[in-house]
Amino acid sequence: MAMNIALVGIGKIAVDQHVPSIQGSSSWRLAATVSRRGTVAGAKRYPDIETMLAARPDIPVVSLCLPPAPRFAAASAALEAGRHVMLEKPPGATLAECGSLGSLARKHELTVFATWHSREAAAVGAARDWIEGKCVRRVHVVWREDVRKWHPGQDWIFEPGGMGVLDPGINALSILTEILPQPVHLRGARLRFPENRQTPIAADLEFSGNVTAEFDWRERGREVWTINVETDAGSLLLTEGGGRMFVDGVETQLSSGPSAGSPSGEYSRLYARMAELVAVRAVEMDLRPMIHVADAFLIGRRLTVGPFDW
Ligand code: NAP
Repeated sequence: MAMNIALVGIGKIAVDQHVPSIQGSSSWRLAATVSRRGTVAGAKRYPDIETMLAARPDIPVVSLCLPPAPRFAAASAALEAGRHVMLEKPPGATLAECGSLGSLARKHELTVFATWHSREAAAVGAARDWIEGKCVRRVHVVWREDVRKWHPGQDWIFEPGGMGVLDPGINALSILTEILPQPVHLRGARLRFPENRQTPIAADLEFSGNVTAEFDWRERGREVWTINVETDAGSLLLTEGGGRMFVDGVETQLSSGPSAGSPSGEYSRLYARMAELVAVRAVEMDLRPMIHVADAFLIGRRLTVGPFDW
């Protein structure tokens, strides 16, 4: 039987991915939304999460699509009210608040699931399997996209806690931490801040293990989301955000499951995983991608670039 779920924050990702994934699943029923403005046909809208939690004891699961800064208050309110919680990436604005959510969920024997949608891209599992047992010699990540296309008018992303270009960059880091057999740590970073903004618009990262990354939001052409891994036994290229994989230049044919190659398949898999976690009241929160982002802000060199306006 489908379980009732409430969606909180009806913005771009909720509309593009969460609503169709929930509505396309037999495990879930979109029973309510929490939004100041947005509505979804067939789901009752509540103006704030406290009102929804009080009015709807029939909803055991809450999925949060808010920006990271307001997410902790909503997540902790839901957990305190005895609801399981699914978190969009990044799981919070700070590492400590993510840790607190994990502790709160364990205390109440509830699920909290810190999702990393890019890890569900079609080629990521195959890439991890191919790299396993090989000696990784060099990795280079390129994550370039147009902020106006992917985050239109989202001022929160340039405010403290919004992470700037490290918001999409953390998607690359979520794949990296999933596919590399050995942990790496950040050694240095250069963060380019527009003179009128609080978060970087571009970043270069240098990790141990000969791993480098360049993130840039100033791309005006087609987005580039690639990870190139050179090993002692050939090279692997992930393109399209982990959607396609090439070994020594030859594309690997991936098994054509329902999710392969489909961006929304990432979210269908996340909701399937959430159903599994709720069934056993488990906490799944891997903070490694966020640790790298936090480290970039800790040791990164700040460079100022021209102003950014939409
Ligand atoms: P968005 O379009 O700005 O939507 C966020 C929604 O959160 C807003 O529409 C608003 O919904 C609600 N909200 C509540 N408090 C807010 C506040 N203080 N400031 C701004 N919004 C507030 O953002 P989004 O692109 O959907 O991103 C949301 C999260 O999903 C982020 O963590 C992002 O990293 C992640 N994500 C985004 C994408 C993407 O391509 N955009 C992809 C994957 C993941 P109401 O008006 O309904 O209250």
